[in-house]
Amino acid sequence: MHAVSSKYVRTKSGNYDDLATEFPPSIADNDLLHTIASSVCKKMNKSNIEEAGCAVCGEITPVRNLSQVKNIKNLLHILTTSGVTCKERKNQNDPLHEYSGPVLDYTCNRVYDHCRACIRKGKTPRLALANGLWLGKVPDELKSLRFVEKLLIARVWHTCSYVKVASGMRKMKANIIAFESPIPKIYNILPPP
Ligand SMILES: [Zn+2]
Repeated sequence: MHAVSSKYVRTKSGNYDDLATEFPPSIADNDLLHTIASSVCKKMNKSNIEEAGCAVCGEITPVRNLSQVKNIKNLLHILTTSGVTCKERKNQNDPLHEYSGPVLDYTCNRVYDHCRACIRKGKTPRLALANGLWLGKVPDELKSLRFVEKLLIARVWHTCSYVKVASGMRKMKANIIAFESPIPKIYNILPPP
């Protein structure tokens, strides 16, 4: 037998026994209703749903996995890297200035448990902003771009091709191709007539 309905259970001997569930089931008593309602409320509690960003890597994570950055502020010096950050310039000829201090997302005041554990060991987390992943403040105009709009303004367009193998894993089939988008040409063409 391959398919069994939920009212059958498999015994140790491998046979399926009929539980002879009544239908319709009897009305649930108040205790059961209370247990169901309170466990639903518990699951939907704000603390189980709320998410916030990690100051070290910027990843959005459930709040229950985050702790305050100020608890590890004495260890954050390992995230001080040069050549990663850049203050906004209004003109191409303006000199480049970096932000001082550890490379963090200063709009977040919490840190993900995994990042905190790495920092406590004196290691920079692999996906930390300090590992060359810092972006800075994203302007409102760029925050809500659609996929095609992102392609149009990307300075470098990249693509890579993967195939799924028998084990369900993926492997790369071709090289990554990266080529520069002709942005000035696009600017002259947009907006379309
Ligand atoms: Zn993190």
